[in-house]
Parts: sequence; C-alpha cells; structure tokens
Amino acid sequence: MNEVGHLVVVGASLAGLRAVEAARRTGFAGRITLIGAEDHLPYDRPPLSKAFLEEAGVPIPTFRDEKVLRDELGVRLMLGAPATRLDTDGRAVVVGDRTVAYDAVVLATGASARELPGGRDLAGVHTLRTLDDAVAIRAALDSGARTVVIGAGFIGSEVAAAARRRGLEVVVVEAAATPLVRAVGEPMGEVCAALHRRHGTEMRCGVGVTGLDGAGQVERVLLSDGSALPADLVVVGVGAVPATGWLAGSGLLLDDGVVCDETLFTGVAGVYAAGDVARWHNPMFDRPMRPEHWTSAAEQGAVAARNALEPDAATPYSTVPYFWSDWYGSRIQFVGIPGADEVRVVDGDVRSDGRLVALYREGDRLVGALTLDAPAHVMKYRGLIMRGASWRDGLAFAAERRSGAAARPVSRDLDTDAIVDR
Ligand SMILES: Cc1cc2nc3c(=O)[nH]c(=O)nc-3n(C[C@H](O)[C@H](O)[C@H](O)COP(=O)(O)OP(=O)(O)OC[C@H]3O[C@@H](n4cnc5c(N)ncnc54)[C@H](O)[C@@H]3O)c2cc1C
Repeated sequence: MNEVGHLVVVGASLAGLRAVEAARRTGFAGRITLIGAEDHLPYDRPPLSKAFLEEAGVPIPTFRDEKVLRDELGVRLMLGAPATRLDTDGRAVVVGDRTVAYDAVVLATGASARELPGGRDLAGVHTLRTLDDAVAIRAALDSGARTVVIGAGFIGSEVAAAARRRGLEVVVVEAAATPLVRAVGEPMGEVCAALHRRHGTEMRCGVGVTGLDGAGQVERVLLSDGSALPADLVVVGVGAVPATGWLAGSGLLLDDGVVCDETLFTGVAGVYAAGDVARWHNPMFDRPMRPEHWTSAAEQGAVAARNALEPDAATPYSTVPYFWSDWYGSRIQFVGIPGADEVRVVDGDVRSDGRLVALYREGDRLVGALTLDAPAHVMKYRGLIMRGASWRDGLAFAAERRSGAAARPVSRDLDTDAIVDR
C-alpha cells in the first residue's frame, strides 16, 4: 500500500524528470509537483557544449513538451520558481511566499557553475551550465569572437572544440600543469591536452588568471606570467558547486552536496536526493561520491523516486560511474574512478591510429577504463569492474581483445555493446 499522496520534486532537469517518470512507472497515482528555478521546460545539458554551439540554429534539446508533462505524466509544473527553503519539520518546500506541502520529496537541484571573482562585471564573460548561458555563448561564436576558455575541464574543452570547428582562434588557460588530472589522472590528462594542440587550440597550462580587463566588454585576460590574451568571449569552466544554498537550516547533512546513504535517503523522513546535488554512498566502491555525470543523475532520479514512494522496499543505488565527452569529432569515454595507483595503455595509440584504451588499477583491482574513439570497448570494461574484476583479469581481457581484433578483418567499432545507456 502506498502511503505517499503528494510527491514533490525540486529541480526540473534530468534527475527531477527521471524521478517523475519513474514514479508514474511504478503506478503511483498520487499528486506530483515539479518545481524548477529556470523558466524552461526540462532540457538536456550535454548538447549545450557540443552540437548546440557548433552551429547556429541547432534546436533547444527539450526532453518533453509541456502537454506530455501535464497530461500524460500528470505533473503540476512550477517553473521559474526557485525553492527558497526546505521545512523538514512541517514537511513543506517553501518557494518565496508560497508553501508546497509534501509527503515525500526528491531534491534534484543539481549544481551551479563556479564563477571567477568579479566575473560578471564585464559583458562577454560567461559560465556554461544553463540554456541561457549556451544561447549567449553561441551568439558570441556566431559573431566570430576571439575565444579564451578558462579551465581545461570537460565543458571548457568542449567549448574550445566547438569554437575551433567554426575556425575561430581559441586559447585554453589552465592553472594546473596538466588538465583533467582529477577526472582522468595525469597521463590521460596529457593525452587530452595533446588532442587540443593537434586541432590548433593553444594551451596555456600552469598559468593562473589574475584578472579580466575591458571597458564594459571584456577585451583581455590577464595572466600570472605577466602576459595578456586578447578576447571577445571568455568562457569560465572552473567546475561546479552543488546547489544546496536553499537547504541551509533544513537539518539535512550538507557536505559538498546533500549527504545520502546508499538508497539516496538523507536520513530525514521523506527526503531523498538525486543527481549532481547528491553525495551518496556508492556500495560498488564503498565510498561517498558525487559524480556530476549524466548517466548517474538519470539513474539516481529514478531510484530516489521509487525509494521515496516505497521506503520499506528501498533498494541501493550501486554503480560504476560513466561519462563521455566529445571533442573535435572524437569521443572520450570513462568508466569507474580515476584516483588510481597505476594507469596503463592496453590498446591503441593516439599518435598512430588516433584511438586508445587505458586501464586504471587500485591495489589489485581494476577500477577504471578510459577510451578514446574506442566505443566498442568501454562498456565491456564497465561490466568487468562491476563484477569486481582483478587487475590481472583486466589485463588478460585486454590482451584477448587485442588478439581478437588482430584476427578480425572488419572495423573494431561495430560492436553493439557500444550503444551506451543514454
Ligand atoms: C554544458 C554541459 C555539458 C555536459 N556534458 C556532459 C557529457 O557530455 N557527459 C556527461 O556524462 N555529463 C555531462 N554533463 C553533466 C550532466 O548534464 C549533469 O550531470 C546532469 O545535468 C545533472 O542532472 P541534475 O538533474 O542532477 O542537475 P541539473 O541538470 O544541474 O539540474 C538541476 C536543476 O535544478 C534547478 N534548481 C537549482 N536550484 C533550485 C532551487 N532552489 N529550486 C528549484 N530548482 C532549482 C536548476 O535550475 C536546474 O534546472 C554536462 C553538463 C553541462 C552543464
């Protein structure tokens, strides 16, 4: 018997939408309210730094139209309505001067782009998290902006690649000596940096940004080595912070996200979290994580809603994290965790055939795999990691695949396992 009469989901994006859909799939017939800070219907973020920027006219990647949300999913939509407080004693979400009572709530407010101090003072300086950000960046690219990207993370790198594909001058400034060390480790960070250079993007690594200069509109990026880069468009890609500000005083444990157990339960009756805002205990690696990846946000939305509706039958969310990123027509894919004792290239060679498979070891366990333009491989390694494969198992599997590939005359990438769970 279902005791929840009203499910409230805060955050009208990927995790929030998946929560709504999963609730209805379980047969939940009660009321659902979806509260979102942005004016837009839920839309997909990954295309915003890829196809959407590469040319004018690519449509907005909306997930569902309003009619489907209202009529088929029976959702009461509150858009352009940032939640301002969570009253866990009174079981209510406060939205300005309105109060929305809940029996169960899924917190799916995601993350916001980290800003540079004073970054909003000049026109032409943007972060990229929302559709509105992407529209502004695309307009600048349309007008041929000289582009400087601050931060060589995945989103910044994709912006750089999109600008280069339009033939624009692009410089990427990265404070660390090697980009993406936290995301994929040092050796593979180098491989990614080389990809930029090969496509004519200038990389300035190991140098900080000391200021942005211009009269109203940004004109220069000032660097710690005393140099200045001319710029019409500056995209700041220095990470994201979980959107938990509105939860201050709620009694929830907040520590780089909303802290949850393995079932995405916050420990406060009726309150679950999902997606980029949730820091949950991942049983697969027996540690807390907050991955900021599309696949885990989507899956967590569904799990959180099911568990919120049926807490007595709650199931853990256990996963091998997965993300992809597209640069210059190449696809980088990563499964697992990057903080490894060893990273070893087991197949391919970026310099000769443009593709690569690298494995990550922690102790004697296989914990990660990165592929560059080798989509047939990545989900196989995800399966191995999921089954708790040892490092030796991983290497043996790689050797088997190499010899199989040598014997196979047809293209390596026709494997149907390449179809990933997007
Ligand atoms: C440009 C871009 C490209 C990306 N590319 C990739 C990729 O290639 N591969 C990959 O794996 N991942 C990618 N990601 C990450 C992926 O999109 C995110 O992991 C995913 O969007 C997280 O979904 P979410 O629903 O948890 O949070 P979000 O998508 O951040 O949505 C949270 C929503 O909550 C709203 N909100 C915030 N505060 C409040 C409040 N107080 N009240 C109401 N609503 C609120 C926000 O406005 C937002 O709409 C990308 C992200 C971005 C920004």
